[in-house]
Amino acid sequence: MSLCEDLYRDIILDHYQHPRGKGTLPAPTHREEGLNPVCGDEVVMELDVREGKVCEARFSGHGCSISQASASMLTELIAGQPMDQVGELIEKFKTRMTTRGELGECPCELGDVEALDGVRKYPVRIKCALLAWTTLQRAMLEGEIDGKAT
Ligand code: ZN
Repeated sequence: MSLCEDLYRDIILDHYQHPRGKGTLPAPTHREEGLNPVCGDEVVMELDVREGKVCEARFSGHGCSISQASASMLTELIAGQPMDQVGELIEKFKTRMTTRGELGECPCELGDVEALDGVRKYPVRIKCALLAWTTLQRAMLEGEIDGKAT
């Protein structure tokens, strides 16, 4: 295993063992649940959106290290971001995860998420990595809790 892959594995394990943004919000404006039956991963994404910005993001659930680390990276990444920017980040990550062959340099706005690049070698695990992101996308589009968002 190369030094790079070792480092990436450490980052993934660190997020899995010390997840950022794990928990629930007292009054989320958006909420959605996601399942990855292939692996048994479950994730619940909650957002507190104010004036078009993600003030806080939380996830809960359980599953493999990839799915939970990816959710942790995601909540860390989107805190304080405007909703349209979050939408763009999700699209960038989805494109990156489903690209075959060589990747260009990771857009720096994706931060630790670059550590998930190696997952692309294992098609079954790509769904694990994408779960939190597709769930968040649905939360933004369909998961609005009535009367809460401003
Ligand atoms: Zn999984």
